[in-house]
Amino acid sequence: MVDIRGVEELKGIRIDDDHVRIGALTTHAELLASEPLHEVLPLFRRAANLIADPQVRNRGTIGGSLANADPAADWPAVVIALGADIEIAHPGDTGRVAGRDFFVDIFTTALEPNEMLVGVHIPRPTPGTRFAYRKIRHPASGYAVVGVAAAVRLRGDVIEHASIGVTGAAGHAFAGDAAAEFLIGKPLSAEVAAKAARLLSEATECLSDRYASAEYRASLLATETRRALLSLAQ
Ligand SMILES: Cc1cc2nc3c(=O)[nH]c(=O)nc-3n(C[C@H](O)[C@H](O)[C@H](O)COP(=O)(O)OP(=O)(O)OC[C@H]3O[C@@H](n4cnc5c(N)ncnc54)[C@H](O)[C@@H]3O)c2cc1C
Repeated sequence: MVDIRGVEELKGIRIDDDHVRIGALTTHAELLASEPLHEVLPLFRRAANLIADPQVRNRGTIGGSLANADPAADWPAVVIALGADIEIAHPGDTGRVAGRDFFVDIFTTALEPNEMLVGVHIPRPTPGTRFAYRKIRHPASGYAVVGVAAAVRLRGDVIEHASIGVTGAAGHAFAGDAAAEFLIGKPLSAEVAAKAARLLSEATECLSDRYASAEYRASLLATETRRALLSLAQ
């Protein structure tokens, strides 16, 4: 067992011209409190604010959450929607894996046994990009029964960029590509949001457990996706 809490290189939020780098040991509370991060990537505050309670937010780290790959954790959906890369240290070397490829199964990531997660690398979003995070919180833990992160950019009335990250619904977090592709070139109307949400829900093999049946999760996924997208229309 190795305690990594003293490793300075794994701490902190760095905001550069074209990207943001978050060290693996950055806590949820630090992500919630950071004003500079909020100005560039408001999705972090929105999601951090919905994680558990202040005690958990003070202890839990983004690196621990991503490496743990709980299918109901919040950060996986956020890093996928933001097109982030996960920075990985191998012995004597470092590398990156796209966030969308990092989560491979329940509590299973692309990390090999001799690797560790050192940070998250997020491209700075194009100005005008709008973000939403919605989740149905489990009433005891706060974990996402279903959580949806969305990033949308409009040109005039038409969507020119969309990305969606989903957590809670399936065995691991994933990108809602079919729904995001459907949105491109369309107005962000109630009808379009509902159709995209339906596409996403129908394409997802939802988990069934004692908290929610697969059918109920599919219904929550459609509802939360539609609401997340519509919240970006204003
Ligand atoms: C009561 C409760 C409620 C919670 N509610 C939520 C919630 O609503 N939403 C949510 O998203 N999360 C929730 N969590 C999870 C919590 O936020 C933490 O992220 C999670 O418990 C991991 O804790 P940690 O960051 O201290 O990592 P640890 O517990 O230290 O590590 C978790 C696992 O990842 C490995 N690991 C840690 N860091 C690294 C690294 N850098 N590289 C490689 N492997 C690593 C560890 O070896 C371990 O296997 C909750 C937890 C609790 C206890």
